[in-house]
Amino acid sequence: MPRPVVEITHREEFSSAHRLHDPALSDEENRRLYGICNRDHGHNYALEVTVVGPVPTSGMVMDLKELGTVVQERILAVVDHRHLNHDVPFLAGVIPTAENLAVAFWHQIEPQLKGYAGCRLHRIRVYESRNNYVDFLGPAPVR
Ligand SMILES: [Zn+2]
Repeated sequence: MPRPVVEITHREEFSSAHRLHDPALSDEENRRLYGICNRDHGHNYALEVTVVGPVPTSGMVMDLKELGTVVQERILAVVDHRHLNHDVPFLAGVIPTAENLAVAFWHQIEPQLKGYAGCRLHRIRVYESRNNYVDFLGPAPVR
């Protein structure tokens, strides 16, 4: 009988400052595009990292404690109580919308999971507020 495939998720919360500003646009265009988000401000973010795989004999797709360690070391240690535009090396040159954060977080976490046989990163979900979140399901497969 095939093993059931299960998604497992680790969630963390962090607080960061940011500003939505495209240096290719004028100040006036930035204000029109991003509104008050063109100013320095902050969010209480939540990050959910989902891994998927068949349930092996151990009963664990992946040890959630180890997934938590990866998320802590790769993301939280770098972004919590920081300014996302200035303080985070892997976000240099990135306009820190929730969409761009989800993509950048994927590329920080995915290589760390290569050693875990049988499972893979499935989704990065970034909540910018209680009501607004974005999902990234990974780069489109090359055809
Ligand atoms: Zn914002």
